[in-house]
Amino acid sequence: MLTAKEIRDSFKNFFESKGHHIVPSAPMVIKDDPTLMFTNAGMNQFKDIILGNHPAKYQRVADSQKCLRVSGKHNDLEEVGHDTYHHTMFEMLGNWSFGDYFKKEAISWAWEYLVEVLKLNPEHLYATVFEGSPEEGLGRDDEAASYWEQFLPKDHIINGNKHDNFWEMGDTGPCGPCSEIHIDLRPAEERAKISGRDLVNHDHPQVIEIWNLVFMQYNRKADGSLEPLPAKVIDTGMGFERLCMALQGKTSNYDTDVFQPMLKAIAAMSGTEYGKDKQQDIAMRVIADHIRTIAFSITDGQLPSNAKAGYVIRRILRRAVRYGYTFLGQKQAFMYKLLPVLIDNMGEAYPELIAQKALIEKVIKEEEESFLRTLETGIRLLDKTMEDTKANGKTEISGKDAFTLYDTFGFPLDLTELILRENGMTVNIEEFDGEMQQQKQRARNAAAIETGDWITLKEGTTEFVGYDYTEYEASIL
Ligand code: ATP
Ligand code: MG
Ligand code: MG
Ligand code: MG
Repeated sequence: MLTAKEIRDSFKNFFESKGHHIVPSAPMVIKDDPTLMFTNAGMNQFKDIILGNHPAKYQRVADSQKCLRVSGKHNDLEEVGHDTYHHTMFEMLGNWSFGDYFKKEAISWAWEYLVEVLKLNPEHLYATVFEGSPEEGLGRDDEAASYWEQFLPKDHIINGNKHDNFWEMGDTGPCGPCSEIHIDLRPAEERAKISGRDLVNHDHPQVIEIWNLVFMQYNRKADGSLEPLPAKVIDTGMGFERLCMALQGKTSNYDTDVFQPMLKAIAAMSGTEYGKDKQQDIAMRVIADHIRTIAFSITDGQLPSNAKAGYVIRRILRRAVRYGYTFLGQKQAFMYKLLPVLIDNMGEAYPELIAQKALIEKVIKEEEESFLRTLETGIRLLDKTMEDTKANGKTEISGKDAFTLYDTFGFPLDLTELILRENGMTVNIEEFDGEMQQQKQRARNAAAIETGDWITLKEGTTEFVGYDYTEYEASIL
Protein backbone atom coordinates (compact mmCIF):
# COMPACT_ATOMS: atom_id res chain seq x y z
CA MET A 1 0.00 0.00 0.00
CA LEU A 2 1.32 3.43 -0.90
CA THR A 3 1.79 5.84 1.98
CA ALA A 4 0.57 9.42 1.81
CA LYS A 5 4.14 10.61 1.37
CA GLU A 6 4.71 8.19 -1.52
CA ILE A 7 1.50 9.36 -3.16
CA ARG A 8 2.43 13.04 -2.88
CA ASP A 9 5.90 12.33 -4.28
CA SER A 10 4.54 10.19 -7.10
CA PHE A 11 2.35 13.04 -8.33
CA LYS A 12 5.27 15.42 -8.50
CA ASN A 13 7.51 12.83 -10.14
CA PHE A 14 4.89 12.01 -12.73
CA PHE A 15 4.38 15.60 -13.83
CA GLU A 16 8.09 16.32 -13.67
CA SER A 17 8.53 13.47 -16.15
CA LYS A 18 6.04 15.31 -18.40
CA GLY A 19 8.20 18.42 -18.45
CA HIS A 20 6.63 20.29 -15.50
CA HIS A 21 8.59 22.47 -13.15
CA ILE A 22 7.74 21.56 -9.54
CA VAL A 23 7.04 24.63 -7.41
CA PRO A 24 6.56 24.87 -3.64
CA SER A 25 3.18 25.46 -2.06
CA ALA A 26 2.32 29.14 -1.65
CA PRO A 27 1.45 30.19 1.91
CA MET A 28 -2.07 29.28 2.97
CA VAL A 29 -2.59 32.76 4.39
CA ILE A 30 -2.85 35.56 1.82
CA LYS A 31 -1.83 39.02 2.94
CA ASP A 32 -2.02 41.19 -0.15
CA ASP A 33 -5.29 40.36 -1.92
CA PRO A 34 -8.40 42.23 -0.76
CA THR A 35 -10.65 39.59 -2.31
CA LEU A 36 -9.22 36.52 -0.62
CA MET A 37 -8.00 35.77 2.93
CA PHE A 38 -6.77 32.21 2.42
CA THR A 39 -5.53 30.17 -0.50
CA ASN A 40 -8.52 28.07 -1.53
CA ALA A 41 -7.16 26.48 -4.70
CA GLY A 42 -3.87 25.68 -6.36
CA MET A 43 -4.41 28.32 -9.02
CA ASN A 44 -4.44 31.27 -6.60
CA GLN A 45 -0.68 31.78 -6.73
CA PHE A 46 -0.82 31.85 -10.54
CA LYS A 47 -3.65 34.35 -10.85
CA ASP A 48 -1.47 37.11 -12.30
CA ILE A 49 0.02 34.78 -14.89
CA ILE A 50 -3.45 33.61 -15.91
CA LEU A 51 -4.69 37.20 -16.15
CA GLY A 52 -1.71 38.06 -18.34
CA ASN A 53 -0.28 40.56 -15.83
CA HIS A 54 2.87 38.53 -15.40
CA PRO A 55 4.84 36.46 -17.89
CA ALA A 56 5.06 32.77 -17.00
CA LYS A 57 8.59 31.73 -16.06
CA TYR A 58 7.68 28.11 -16.75
CA GLN A 59 4.86 27.12 -19.05
CA ARG A 60 4.30 23.82 -17.22
CA VAL A 61 4.21 23.69 -13.44
CA ALA A 62 2.91 21.28 -10.83
CA ASP A 63 2.72 21.29 -7.04
CA SER A 64 0.94 20.31 -3.89
CA GLN A 65 -0.80 23.37 -2.45
CA LYS A 66 -2.02 23.87 1.12
CA CYS A 67 -5.61 25.10 0.81
CA LEU A 68 -8.16 26.35 3.29
CA ARG A 69 -11.90 26.52 2.58
CA VAL A 70 -13.53 28.25 5.50
CA SER A 71 -14.77 31.55 4.12
CA GLY A 72 -16.09 33.30 1.06
CA LYS A 73 -17.02 31.41 -2.10
CA HIS A 74 -15.72 28.09 -0.80
CA ASN A 75 -16.78 27.49 2.77
CA ASP A 76 -16.81 23.82 3.76
CA LEU A 77 -16.55 24.33 7.52
CA GLU A 78 -20.02 23.06 8.34
CA GLU A 79 -19.40 19.78 6.53
CA VAL A 80 -16.13 19.13 8.29
CA GLY A 81 -16.35 16.34 10.83
CA HIS A 82 -19.86 15.46 9.73
CA ASP A 83 -18.83 14.08 6.36
CA THR A 84 -15.65 12.14 5.67
CA TYR A 85 -14.20 13.97 2.66
CA HIS A 86 -14.37 17.75 3.18
CA HIS A 87 -11.64 19.30 5.27
CA THR A 88 -10.96 22.84 6.31
CA MET A 89 -7.30 22.55 5.32
CA PHE A 90 -6.38 20.09 2.61
CA GLU A 91 -3.66 19.60 0.04
CA MET A 92 -4.54 20.17 -3.58
CA LEU A 93 -2.32 18.46 -6.14
CA GLY A 94 -2.26 20.40 -9.37
CA ASN A 95 -0.68 20.73 -12.80
CA TRP A 96 -0.81 23.79 -15.05
CA SER A 97 -0.18 24.73 -18.61
CA PHE A 98 0.14 28.43 -19.37
CA GLY A 99 -0.34 28.70 -23.11
CA ASP A 100 1.25 25.32 -23.73
CA TYR A 101 -0.61 21.95 -23.82
CA PHE A 102 -4.40 21.80 -23.60
CA LYS A 103 -7.26 19.31 -23.23
CA LYS A 104 -5.74 16.32 -24.96
CA GLU A 105 -2.64 16.12 -22.78
CA ALA A 106 -4.43 17.21 -19.59
CA ILE A 107 -6.94 14.39 -19.96
CA SER A 108 -4.61 11.68 -21.14
CA TRP A 109 -2.01 12.43 -18.45
CA ALA A 110 -4.68 12.47 -15.73
CA TRP A 111 -5.77 9.07 -16.95
CA GLU A 112 -2.24 7.75 -17.26
CA TYR A 113 -1.41 8.87 -13.74
CA LEU A 114 -4.51 7.45 -12.07
CA VAL A 115 -4.85 4.21 -13.98
CA GLU A 116 -1.41 3.27 -15.27
CA VAL A 117 0.80 4.70 -12.52
CA LEU A 118 -1.46 4.39 -9.49
CA LYS A 119 -3.48 1.43 -10.78
CA LEU A 120 -6.90 2.72 -9.82
CA ASN A 121 -9.58 0.45 -11.25
CA PRO A 122 -11.02 2.24 -14.33
CA GLU A 123 -14.42 0.68 -13.64
CA HIS A 124 -14.68 2.97 -10.61
CA LEU A 125 -14.02 6.15 -12.55
CA TYR A 126 -16.40 8.66 -14.13
CA ALA A 127 -15.67 11.86 -16.02
CA THR A 128 -18.04 14.80 -16.33
CA VAL A 129 -18.08 17.18 -19.29
CA PHE A 130 -19.78 20.53 -19.79
CA GLU A 131 -23.20 19.99 -21.38
CA GLY A 132 -23.22 23.43 -23.02
CA SER A 133 -25.23 26.57 -22.52
CA PRO A 134 -27.42 27.38 -25.53
CA GLU A 135 -28.32 30.87 -24.28
CA GLU A 136 -24.62 31.76 -24.47
CA GLY A 137 -24.13 29.98 -27.76
CA LEU A 138 -21.92 27.35 -26.11
CA GLY A 139 -22.22 23.76 -27.22
CA ARG A 140 -21.32 20.61 -25.29
CA ASP A 141 -17.61 20.15 -24.71
CA ASP A 142 -17.40 17.40 -27.34
CA GLU A 143 -13.68 17.91 -27.58
CA ALA A 144 -13.09 16.85 -23.95
CA ALA A 145 -15.65 14.07 -24.35
CA SER A 146 -13.83 12.70 -27.37
CA TYR A 147 -10.61 12.36 -25.37
CA TRP A 148 -12.42 10.70 -22.48
CA GLU A 149 -14.00 8.27 -24.92
CA GLN A 150 -10.55 6.88 -25.61
CA PHE A 151 -10.45 5.65 -22.03
CA LEU A 152 -13.98 5.40 -20.64
CA PRO A 153 -17.17 3.75 -21.87
CA LYS A 154 -19.85 6.28 -22.84
CA ASP A 155 -21.96 5.54 -19.78
CA HIS A 156 -19.08 6.68 -17.58
CA ILE A 157 -18.97 10.09 -19.26
CA ILE A 158 -21.58 12.36 -17.77
CA ASN A 159 -22.88 15.73 -18.91
CA GLY A 160 -22.76 18.43 -16.25
CA ASN A 161 -24.31 21.87 -16.03
CA LYS A 162 -22.80 25.30 -15.82
CA HIS A 163 -22.69 25.21 -12.05
CA ASP A 164 -20.48 22.11 -11.87
CA ASN A 165 -18.73 22.18 -15.24
CA PHE A 166 -18.01 25.76 -16.21
CA TRP A 167 -15.38 27.61 -14.22
CA GLU A 168 -15.12 31.38 -14.00
CA MET A 169 -12.53 33.37 -12.12
CA GLY A 170 -14.98 36.19 -11.48
CA ASP A 171 -17.57 38.26 -13.30
CA THR A 172 -14.99 38.98 -15.95
CA GLY A 173 -11.77 37.31 -17.00
CA PRO A 174 -10.58 33.84 -17.92
CA CYS A 175 -13.14 31.03 -17.86
CA GLY A 176 -13.98 27.79 -19.55
CA PRO A 177 -15.47 24.33 -19.26
CA CYS A 178 -14.10 21.74 -16.89
CA SER A 179 -14.10 17.98 -16.56
CA GLU A 180 -14.24 16.40 -13.15
CA ILE A 181 -13.12 12.90 -12.33
CA HIS A 182 -15.30 11.13 -9.79
CA ILE A 183 -14.64 7.83 -8.11
CA ASP A 184 -17.23 5.27 -7.06
CA LEU A 185 -15.94 3.45 -3.99
CA ARG A 186 -19.04 1.35 -3.29
CA PRO A 187 -18.72 -2.43 -3.20
CA ALA A 188 -19.32 -4.25 -6.51
CA GLU A 189 -22.80 -5.54 -5.48
CA GLU A 190 -24.00 -2.01 -4.89
CA ARG A 191 -22.37 -0.70 -8.04
CA ALA A 192 -24.23 -3.37 -9.99
CA LYS A 193 -27.57 -2.24 -8.58
CA ILE A 194 -27.43 1.47 -9.22
CA SER A 195 -24.96 3.20 -11.46
CA GLY A 196 -22.60 5.84 -10.17
CA ARG A 197 -23.92 8.00 -12.99
CA ASP A 198 -27.01 8.69 -10.86
CA LEU A 199 -24.88 9.51 -7.83
CA VAL A 200 -22.12 11.68 -9.25
CA ASN A 201 -22.40 15.17 -7.75
CA HIS A 202 -25.27 14.09 -5.48
CA ASP A 203 -23.38 14.10 -2.17
CA HIS A 204 -23.17 10.33 -1.97
CA PRO A 205 -20.41 9.72 0.63
CA GLN A 206 -18.77 7.02 -1.47
CA VAL A 207 -19.14 8.51 -4.92
CA ILE A 208 -16.91 11.53 -4.74
CA GLU A 209 -15.09 14.02 -6.88
CA ILE A 210 -11.33 13.60 -6.83
CA TRP A 211 -9.91 15.75 -9.62
CA ASN A 212 -11.08 18.81 -11.48
CA LEU A 213 -9.51 19.67 -14.85
CA VAL A 214 -10.29 23.23 -15.90
CA PHE A 215 -9.86 24.24 -19.50
CA MET A 216 -9.65 28.04 -19.65
CA GLN A 217 -10.31 28.95 -23.24
CA TYR A 218 -12.47 32.09 -23.05
CA ASN A 219 -12.23 35.56 -21.67
CA ARG A 220 -15.47 36.97 -20.24
CA LYS A 221 -15.72 40.65 -21.20
CA ALA A 222 -17.38 43.36 -19.11
CA ASP A 223 -20.53 43.18 -21.27
CA GLY A 224 -20.80 39.48 -20.40
CA SER A 225 -19.82 38.19 -23.82
CA LEU A 226 -17.09 35.60 -24.37
CA GLU A 227 -14.06 35.89 -26.61
CA PRO A 228 -11.38 33.24 -27.18
CA LEU A 229 -8.44 33.46 -24.81
CA PRO A 230 -5.19 34.01 -26.74
CA ALA A 231 -3.10 31.84 -24.40
CA LYS A 232 -5.19 28.92 -23.19
CA VAL A 233 -4.66 27.63 -19.68
CA ILE A 234 -4.93 24.22 -18.05
CA ASP A 235 -5.61 24.39 -14.32
CA THR A 236 -6.16 21.18 -12.40
CA GLY A 237 -6.79 20.39 -8.75
CA MET A 238 -6.96 17.01 -7.07
CA GLY A 239 -7.85 16.40 -3.43
CA PHE A 240 -4.79 14.70 -1.96
CA GLU A 241 -6.55 13.19 1.07
CA ARG A 242 -9.31 11.81 -1.18
CA LEU A 243 -6.75 10.29 -3.49
CA CYS A 244 -5.06 8.65 -0.49
CA MET A 245 -8.43 7.24 0.56
CA ALA A 246 -9.02 5.69 -2.86
CA LEU A 247 -5.51 4.27 -3.08
CA GLN A 248 -5.43 2.90 0.42
CA GLY A 249 -8.72 1.07 -0.10
CA LYS A 250 -10.66 3.18 2.42
CA THR A 251 -14.03 4.87 2.27
CA SER A 252 -13.21 7.78 4.57
CA ASN A 253 -10.31 10.23 4.36
CA TYR A 254 -9.96 9.79 8.10
CA ASP A 255 -9.14 6.11 7.71
CA THR A 256 -5.95 6.91 5.78
CA ASP A 257 -2.48 7.38 7.24
CA VAL A 258 -3.02 11.13 6.84
CA PHE A 259 -5.38 11.13 9.82
CA GLN A 260 -5.12 7.79 11.63
CA PRO A 261 -2.17 8.65 13.93
CA MET A 262 -3.97 11.82 15.01
CA LEU A 263 -7.28 10.07 15.63
CA LYS A 264 -5.51 7.43 17.70
CA ALA A 265 -3.83 10.11 19.78
CA ILE A 266 -7.11 11.95 20.37
CA ALA A 267 -8.88 8.72 21.28
CA ALA A 268 -6.12 7.70 23.71
CA MET A 269 -6.16 11.11 25.32
CA SER A 270 -9.92 10.89 25.77
CA GLY A 271 -9.98 7.31 26.95
CA THR A 272 -12.15 6.19 24.05
CA GLU A 273 -11.85 4.65 20.60
CA TYR A 274 -12.58 5.97 17.14
CA GLY A 275 -15.52 4.17 15.54
CA LYS A 276 -17.45 3.43 18.73
CA ASP A 277 -19.82 6.35 19.05
CA LYS A 278 -21.19 8.59 16.30
CA GLN A 279 -21.05 11.80 18.29
CA GLN A 280 -17.55 11.21 19.57
CA ASP A 281 -16.37 10.25 16.10
CA ILE A 282 -17.56 13.59 14.75
CA ALA A 283 -15.75 15.37 17.56
CA MET A 284 -12.55 13.44 16.89
CA ARG A 285 -12.71 14.18 13.16
CA VAL A 286 -13.27 17.87 13.85
CA ILE A 287 -10.24 18.01 16.14
CA ALA A 288 -8.02 15.97 13.80
CA ASP A 289 -8.98 18.30 10.97
CA HIS A 290 -8.81 21.62 12.80
CA ILE A 291 -5.43 21.07 14.45
CA ARG A 292 -3.91 21.05 10.96
CA THR A 293 -5.58 24.30 9.99
CA ILE A 294 -4.57 26.07 13.15
CA ALA A 295 -0.96 24.88 13.10
CA PHE A 296 -0.46 25.73 9.44
CA SER A 297 -2.10 29.14 9.76
CA ILE A 298 0.31 29.99 12.54
CA THR A 299 3.35 28.85 10.56
CA ASP A 300 2.09 30.89 7.62
CA GLY A 301 1.88 34.01 9.76
CA GLN A 302 -1.73 34.19 10.87
CA LEU A 303 -2.25 34.05 14.62
CA PRO A 304 -5.72 33.76 16.12
CA SER A 305 -7.07 37.24 16.81
CA ASN A 306 -10.20 39.30 17.03
CA ALA A 307 -10.48 40.46 13.45
CA LYS A 308 -10.64 39.21 9.92
CA ALA A 309 -8.47 36.20 9.07
CA GLY A 310 -7.30 35.92 12.66
CA TYR A 311 -10.87 35.70 13.85
CA VAL A 312 -11.63 32.93 11.39
CA ILE A 313 -8.71 30.96 12.83
CA ARG A 314 -9.79 31.72 16.40
CA ARG A 315 -13.29 30.41 15.67
CA ILE A 316 -11.90 27.23 14.14
CA LEU A 317 -9.78 26.63 17.23
CA ARG A 318 -12.78 27.27 19.47
CA ARG A 319 -14.92 24.94 17.41
CA ALA A 320 -12.42 22.15 18.06
CA VAL A 321 -12.12 22.95 21.76
CA ARG A 322 -15.90 23.00 22.08
CA TYR A 323 -16.27 19.57 20.47
CA GLY A 324 -13.55 18.20 22.75
CA TYR A 325 -15.14 19.79 25.78
CA THR A 326 -18.66 18.66 25.01
CA PHE A 327 -18.16 15.16 23.66
CA LEU A 328 -14.72 13.98 24.78
CA GLY A 329 -14.54 15.28 28.31
CA GLN A 330 -11.61 17.60 27.56
CA LYS A 331 -12.02 20.22 30.27
CA GLN A 332 -8.36 21.33 30.14
CA ALA A 333 -6.31 22.60 27.21
CA PHE A 334 -5.56 19.59 25.04
CA MET A 335 -5.10 20.63 21.42
CA TYR A 336 -1.54 21.84 21.88
CA LYS A 337 -0.54 18.37 23.10
CA LEU A 338 -1.39 16.98 19.66
CA LEU A 339 1.28 18.96 17.90
CA PRO A 340 4.04 16.34 18.15
CA VAL A 341 1.72 13.87 16.38
CA LEU A 342 1.09 16.35 13.59
CA ILE A 343 4.78 17.08 13.23
CA ASP A 344 5.60 13.41 13.16
CA ASN A 345 3.09 13.00 10.34
CA MET A 346 3.63 16.13 8.26
CA GLY A 347 6.89 17.69 9.41
CA GLU A 348 8.96 16.10 6.71
CA ALA A 349 6.81 17.45 3.87
CA TYR A 350 6.29 20.79 5.64
CA PRO A 351 9.43 21.58 7.69
CA GLU A 352 8.01 24.94 8.77
CA LEU A 353 6.03 22.94 11.35
CA ILE A 354 9.22 21.70 12.94
CA ALA A 355 10.90 25.10 12.78
CA GLN A 356 7.98 26.81 14.54
CA LYS A 357 6.92 24.07 16.93
CA ALA A 358 7.48 26.06 20.12
CA LEU A 359 5.52 29.06 18.85
CA ILE A 360 2.60 26.99 17.60
CA GLU A 361 2.33 25.11 20.89
CA LYS A 362 2.45 28.27 22.94
CA VAL A 363 -0.15 30.10 20.85
CA ILE A 364 -2.57 27.17 20.81
CA LYS A 365 -2.22 26.52 24.54
CA GLU A 366 -2.86 30.15 25.45
CA GLU A 367 -5.85 30.37 23.12
CA GLU A 368 -7.32 27.20 24.54
CA GLU A 369 -6.87 28.30 28.12
CA SER A 370 -8.45 31.65 27.53
CA PHE A 371 -11.41 30.15 25.69
CA LEU A 372 -11.91 27.53 28.39
CA ARG A 373 -12.07 30.31 31.00
CA THR A 374 -14.75 32.01 28.91
CA LEU A 375 -16.60 28.74 28.59
CA GLU A 376 -16.53 28.23 32.36
CA THR A 377 -17.83 31.74 32.95
CA GLY A 378 -20.56 31.16 30.39
CA ILE A 379 -21.53 27.91 32.03
CA ARG A 380 -21.82 29.63 35.41
CA LEU A 381 -24.01 32.29 33.82
CA LEU A 382 -26.17 29.63 32.21
CA ASP A 383 -26.50 27.82 35.56
CA LYS A 384 -27.74 31.02 37.13
CA THR A 385 -30.17 31.67 34.25
CA MET A 386 -31.55 28.15 34.60
CA GLU A 387 -32.00 28.59 38.35
CA ASP A 388 -33.83 31.88 37.91
CA THR A 389 -36.02 30.44 35.18
CA LYS A 390 -36.95 27.45 37.32
CA ALA A 391 -37.63 29.70 40.29
CA ASN A 392 -40.21 31.43 38.08
CA GLY A 393 -41.83 28.06 37.41
CA LYS A 394 -40.67 27.95 33.77
CA THR A 395 -38.55 25.51 31.78
CA GLU A 396 -37.76 27.77 28.80
CA ILE A 397 -34.94 30.31 28.98
CA SER A 398 -35.27 33.45 26.90
CA GLY A 399 -33.68 33.80 23.46
CA LYS A 400 -32.06 36.99 24.68
CA ASP A 401 -30.14 35.12 27.39
CA ALA A 402 -29.05 32.49 24.90
CA PHE A 403 -27.93 35.24 22.57
CA THR A 404 -25.85 36.92 25.26
CA LEU A 405 -24.16 33.58 25.86
CA TYR A 406 -23.50 33.30 22.14
CA ASP A 407 -22.37 36.83 21.56
CA THR A 408 -20.34 37.49 24.68
CA PHE A 409 -19.16 34.05 25.68
CA GLY A 410 -18.84 32.34 22.30
CA PHE A 411 -21.51 29.80 23.21
CA PRO A 412 -23.09 28.49 20.04
CA LEU A 413 -26.79 27.81 20.36
CA ASP A 414 -26.32 24.06 20.09
CA LEU A 415 -24.05 24.01 23.14
CA THR A 416 -26.57 26.00 25.15
CA GLU A 417 -29.34 23.66 24.01
CA LEU A 418 -27.27 20.63 24.94
CA ILE A 419 -26.71 21.85 28.48
CA LEU A 420 -30.37 22.87 28.78
CA ARG A 421 -31.51 19.49 27.57
CA GLU A 422 -29.42 17.78 30.21
CA ASN A 423 -31.41 19.83 32.72
CA GLY A 424 -34.80 19.21 31.15
CA MET A 425 -35.04 22.73 29.78
CA THR A 426 -35.37 24.52 26.43
CA VAL A 427 -34.73 27.89 24.82
CA ASN A 428 -36.95 30.28 22.90
CA ILE A 429 -35.46 29.82 19.42
CA GLU A 430 -37.56 32.47 17.63
CA GLU A 431 -36.38 35.10 20.06
CA PHE A 432 -32.78 33.96 19.59
CA ASP A 433 -33.14 34.13 15.81
CA GLY A 434 -34.57 37.63 16.08
CA GLU A 435 -31.54 38.77 18.10
CA MET A 436 -29.25 37.10 15.58
CA GLN A 437 -30.93 38.91 12.68
CA GLN A 438 -30.46 42.25 14.38
CA GLN A 439 -26.83 41.42 15.06
CA LYS A 440 -26.27 40.45 11.44
CA GLN A 441 -27.73 43.73 10.30
CA ARG A 442 -25.43 45.63 12.63
CA ALA A 443 -22.44 43.66 11.43
CA ARG A 444 -23.43 44.17 7.82
CA ASN A 445 -23.61 47.91 8.25
CA ALA A 446 -20.25 48.02 9.97
CA ALA A 447 -18.48 45.45 7.83
CA ALA A 448 -19.51 46.98 4.55
CA ILE A 449 -17.21 49.80 5.40
CA GLU A 450 -14.45 48.18 7.36
CA THR A 451 -13.60 44.63 6.48
CA GLY A 452 -12.06 44.04 3.13
CA ASP A 453 -11.90 40.35 3.89
CA TRP A 454 -15.53 39.64 3.38
CA ILE A 455 -16.23 41.36 0.13
CA THR A 456 -16.01 40.49 -3.51
CA LEU A 457 -14.81 43.25 -5.75
CA LYS A 458 -17.00 44.00 -8.69
CA GLU A 459 -15.69 46.40 -11.27
CA GLY A 460 -14.97 49.32 -9.05
CA THR A 461 -17.88 48.84 -6.67
CA THR A 462 -17.76 46.72 -3.57
CA GLU A 463 -20.47 44.23 -2.89
CA PHE A 464 -20.80 42.82 0.59
CA VAL A 465 -21.39 39.12 0.58
CA GLY A 466 -21.91 38.54 4.26
CA TYR A 467 -20.39 37.39 7.46
CA ASP A 468 -20.20 33.71 8.07
CA TYR A 469 -21.94 33.02 11.32
CA THR A 470 -20.70 29.53 11.22
CA GLU A 471 -20.50 28.88 14.92
CA TYR A 472 -24.18 29.50 15.15
CA GLU A 473 -25.17 27.91 11.88
CA ALA A 474 -23.09 24.75 12.20
CA SER A 475 -25.07 22.04 13.82
CA ILE A 476 -23.15 20.14 16.41
CA LEU A 477 -25.50 17.17 16.30
P1 ATP B 1 -16.74 19.16 -3.83
O1 ATP B 1 -17.76 19.19 -4.93
O2 ATP B 1 -16.43 17.81 -3.33
O3 ATP B 1 -17.03 20.15 -2.73
P2 ATP B 1 -15.27 21.09 -5.35
O4 ATP B 1 -15.89 20.91 -6.69
O5 ATP B 1 -15.74 22.20 -4.51
O6 ATP B 1 -15.36 19.70 -4.50
P3 ATP B 1 -12.82 21.96 -6.60
O7 ATP B 1 -12.97 23.41 -6.36
O8 ATP B 1 -13.10 21.43 -7.95
O9 ATP B 1 -13.68 21.18 -5.49
O10 ATP B 1 -11.36 21.54 -6.09
C1 ATP B 1 -10.56 20.53 -6.70
C2 ATP B 1 -10.48 19.28 -5.84
O11 ATP B 1 -10.14 19.55 -4.49
C3 ATP B 1 -11.78 18.51 -5.74
O12 ATP B 1 -11.95 17.67 -6.85
C4 ATP B 1 -11.60 17.71 -4.46
O13 ATP B 1 -10.93 16.48 -4.70
C5 ATP B 1 -10.71 18.58 -3.62
N1 ATP B 1 -11.47 19.29 -2.56
C6 ATP B 1 -12.31 20.32 -2.72
N2 ATP B 1 -12.77 20.76 -1.54
C7 ATP B 1 -12.19 19.99 -0.60
C8 ATP B 1 -12.24 19.97 0.82
N3 ATP B 1 -12.97 20.84 1.52
N4 ATP B 1 -11.52 19.02 1.47
C9 ATP B 1 -10.77 18.14 0.79
N5 ATP B 1 -10.66 18.11 -0.55
C10 ATP B 1 -11.37 19.03 -1.24
MG1 MG C 1 -16.93 22.21 -2.84
MG1 MG D 1 -17.66 19.68 -7.01
MG1 MG E 1 -14.90 20.61 -8.60
